[in-house]
Amino acid sequence: MAATPEKPVSAAPRRKASRHRGEGQWAVGHFTPLNGNEQFKKDDDGLNVRTRIETIYSKRGFDSIDPQDLRGRMRWWGLYTQRKPGIDGGKTAVLEPEELDDKYFMLRVRVDGGRLTTRQLRVIGEISEEFARGTADITDRQNIQYHWIRIEDVPEIWRRLEEVGLSTTEACGDTPRVIIGSPVAGIAEDEIIDGTPAIEEIHRRVIGNPAFSNLPRKFKSAVSGSPLLDVAHEINDVAFVGVEHPEHGPGFDLWVGGGLSTNPKIGQRLGAWVPLDEVPEVFEGVISIFRDYGYRRLRTRARLKFLLADWGTEKFRQVLQDEYLKRALVDGPAPEQPVAKWRDHVGVHRQQDGKFYVGFAPRVGRVDGATLTKIAEIAEAHGSGRLSTTVEQKMIVLDVDEDQVEPLTEALEALDLTVRPSTFRRGTMACTGIEFCKLAIVETKARGSQLIDELERRIPEFDEPLTININGCPNACARIQVADIGLKGQLMLNDQGEQVEGYQVHLGGALGLEAGFGRKVRGLKVTADELPDYVERVVRRFQDEREEGER
Ligand code: SF4
Repeated sequence: MAATPEKPVSAAPRRKASRHRGEGQWAVGHFTPLNGNEQFKKDDDGLNVRTRIETIYSKRGFDSIDPQDLRGRMRWWGLYTQRKPGIDGGKTAVLEPEELDDKYFMLRVRVDGGRLTTRQLRVIGEISEEFARGTADITDRQNIQYHWIRIEDVPEIWRRLEEVGLSTTEACGDTPRVIIGSPVAGIAEDEIIDGTPAIEEIHRRVIGNPAFSNLPRKFKSAVSGSPLLDVAHEINDVAFVGVEHPEHGPGFDLWVGGGLSTNPKIGQRLGAWVPLDEVPEVFEGVISIFRDYGYRRLRTRARLKFLLADWGTEKFRQVLQDEYLKRALVDGPAPEQPVAKWRDHVGVHRQQDGKFYVGFAPRVGRVDGATLTKIAEIAEAHGSGRLSTTVEQKMIVLDVDEDQVEPLTEALEALDLTVRPSTFRRGTMACTGIEFCKLAIVETKARGSQLIDELERRIPEFDEPLTININGCPNACARIQVADIGLKGQLMLNDQGEQVEGYQVHLGGALGLEAGFGRKVRGLKVTADELPDYVERVVRRFQDEREEGER
């Protein structure tokens, strides 16, 4: 692995450094680290920690890990320390990070494009059973996440993953994260264009490349040629969305600067049309702008959306064209409003080749190693060798012959993996929460699952699309701002004046061409115990008072 350069690589023309230390933008000569994160990244590239894990930490154990690696560079290989069991949410903000640390890790496996073979899924399942106490969650960025990983086992886990073409490289950290892709790319009947070759080429050029391994913060990306807009493109740093250009044919509409968490922003169109074979080059241009011009002084202002907010789309496109691509981009049209109510591909759908794909809904992304292995077996037993994960924490079996659809559906349903889920099962997502996450204040996964059961029992007839996203803290891992009902975990007082787990409610967020953020309902917080009553009231009122076509 190449050493971190003295001065970081920047493709932008060098300008004279201003005396003011500014925002820490490399492109204007500000290379002096302005905070601890920038310092440890300058001290040593996060990618280099792999060698230390393989040769030192995995042999000498958890206590041998350098603190800068433990809470910094390990993320470059998908590793985060997990929360010590039994520490309640009230302690999250008051304890030091090391007091919250368990001696186990969360390990994220990147699944670019969400695409898995049954062989890969079996290996994921086996690793879960052998090294992760059976845990394996499907994330809302198409990844798989393990818990209870011991540092001693990490090299063997990598060996097994890499043997089947999977990795944890840059699954976390200030890096190019997983490249989200349409889970039905190349097979959906209604597809505008298959973005898979672009995802593969971006991966080849960028992931694990030290030229892009020290970014100001995380960099999220998505490529989809589906008219369903099925990759949550609006909240990625860069996204390529399938469109038909009136003169040039199918290609991609370029979006930049989306992101949730602090100061959420919907991505913006640059008004440019990009043909398939130019997507990797344009991706490299955008990520290079982020590396070179991105703000590195404050972590809370370090995402691309803040640079875009200051520059505007016109300047952003100009800089991309003049300094990075050295040519003009072609103007292009915006994507059209999808006709389908849901964009998660759940259910049975015909493919281009006459076969079918079958999307199913686990509960809030929670599966386990044994279940994943069984899913792989079921897929194979019904003639399929491929699956995919979705950005809604769901899964899809691809390439199923028509006569196998019903038996496959029955086999999945027997595992509580439903192909015809209720609105509540289909539309509810939850982040990791207090079970494992050190930033969490409240429980999420188990509560999401209980909420689904309650709502299915109380309002079985409700079948309009509705999304309920549950976060365990003020961060945005489960996208609460863009849900119909977004629930942000916090502690609150109940009627008896006791401190209990609860949620701040956000209502009316959405993705799609009418994307927008939910409104924080002033003062509206619900305790965890009141949650089913509250959601039932909202749903019943919506049923009674909605106008034609209203979400
Ligand atoms: Fe952890 Fe908060 Fe993200 Fe949930 S939203 S996974 S609690 S950081």
